Amino acid sequence: MTEATLRQELAGSLRGDVLDASHPEYDEARALYNAMIDRRPRLIARCVDVADVIEAVRFGRESGLQIAVRGGGHSGAGLGSVEDGLVIDLSLMRGVLVDPGERVARVLGGTLLGEVDHATHAFGLAAPFGIISTTGVGGLTLGGGVGNLTRTLGLSVDSLLAADVVLADGSFVTATEDRNDDLFWALRGGGGNFGVVTSFTFRLSPVSTIVGGPTFWSLDRTEEILSWYREFLPTAPDELNGFFAIHTIPPALPFPEQFHFQKMCGVVWCYAGAAAAADEVYRPVRELEPDLPGLMEMPLPALNSAFDGLYPAGDHWYWRSDYVAEIPDAAVAIHADFAERLPTPKSTLHLYPADGAAARVASDATAFSYRDARWVQVTVGVDPDPDNVQPAKQWARDYWDALHPYSMGGGYVNMLMDEGQERVRSTYRENYGRLAELKRKYDPDNLFRVNWNISPD
Ligand SMILES: Cc1cc2nc3c(=O)[nH]c(=O)nc-3n(C[C@H](O)[C@H](O)[C@H](O)COP(=O)(O)OP(=O)(O)OC[C@H]3O[C@@H](n4cnc5c(N)ncnc54)[C@H](O)[C@@H]3O)c2cc1C
Repeated sequence: MTEATLRQELAGSLRGDVLDASHPEYDEARALYNAMIDRRPRLIARCVDVADVIEAVRFGRESGLQIAVRGGGHSGAGLGSVEDGLVIDLSLMRGVLVDPGERVARVLGGTLLGEVDHATHAFGLAAPFGIISTTGVGGLTLGGGVGNLTRTLGLSVDSLLAADVVLADGSFVTATEDRNDDLFWALRGGGGNFGVVTSFTFRLSPVSTIVGGPTFWSLDRTEEILSWYREFLPTAPDELNGFFAIHTIPPALPFPEQFHFQKMCGVVWCYAGAAAAADEVYRPVRELEPDLPGLMEMPLPALNSAFDGLYPAGDHWYWRSDYVAEIPDAAVAIHADFAERLPTPKSTLHLYPADGAAARVASDATAFSYRDARWVQVTVGVDPDPDNVQPAKQWARDYWDALHPYSMGGGYVNMLMDEGQERVRSTYRENYGRLAELKRKYDPDNLFRVNWNISPD
């Protein structure tokens, strides 16, 4: 079948557009957040409703084209697209309906985090998501979802109440704790393996303003600050969140000019308890006299989008991740060493807390298996210039290699790179067998395989 015939056949049954390489918007539509990944799909189906998704899945199955599902397009490994295949693009299926009385939000499958924050904040409510507001709800939630409220409200999947899914056979089902509960279990951490989620329903919690922001110290205090942080945070109340970071201070407000381009270590805080208690909670932080004391009361969406400008789409990214239970002195020393060698201004190390409320869910209660992890660690090499990215990539890999012996073995599925099948198994640990069984039930031919794949075989 020629390209044009293929396109026409699918376009005839969709309300949304179908783009091939001849379409003027093709290059824009195929671009991924991570510019390091350059894929040229045969067709991009810009779905506008569930019926479009059903048709696109049917077409993918019958044509034999490999299918990728695109939510927000933020996958570091570029899993929202596929070379020479069919992209089921959900970027036009964005919208949020909030029911403030019931404290739930219905979120369409292609919606971005900031759009949910905006809609729910109007009612003084929130669900826990990630730290950059342009990330897709779809991929982030299906992999687990860590962010500024994890210790307080758990992972994003812990606030998930229901998902509407188009399965590999084209059927449409709703998964909840009571309906298709096995599918619901698999969706909460199992990534895009089980179907296309056209809408998510989240429980909302009363979080409106928080007291938080970044506190940074000079890099020569990395060992001291990290050693303090690893002891302090796990004993702090669940309302306190704070991810440890090694960063170059960006040359922009609100950072004072004398710190611009300085490499520093720090913590980005989010206290979601009563503002009146924040002073006391942060007393130990103030006692460490940060050079950049960035704590203030602010709306939650302000913190959740504070770093959007630093990390726009189109940079070249490489990252490696691991789950961490402890940060022994030897690991602290490695952090201090690699901090000195930050290769580019946007490269970074983050340690996202995964304890508190997230750790009070059993490891087999959802597909997300690392409930005993205290942190999700990610080493990230980033640069806007493809010619500069190689040293950043090497730094992120070497840093990860050096720390891996101190990790729990598996990495966070949403922050994997080019790491192979064994890594997927180590990420799901004891839950892998059940996931494979459910893959055989819901997608026996592995139609949805452009993801961290759980093989049905
Ligand atoms: C700048 C940046 C910041 C990040 N911050 C965080 C963070 O704070 N916390 C965190 O947990 N993660 C974070 N991540 C990682 C993020 O969770 C993953 O990259 C995630 O895959 C992004 O989802 P997406 O929908 O944007 O991606 P896409 O590339 O569109 O999709 C990623 C995967 O999810 C699948 N998928 C997406 N939507 C659907 C859907 N509706 N139905 C079925 N499958 C779907 C895709 O098929 C693909 O396999 C960040 C990533 C970046 C680049």
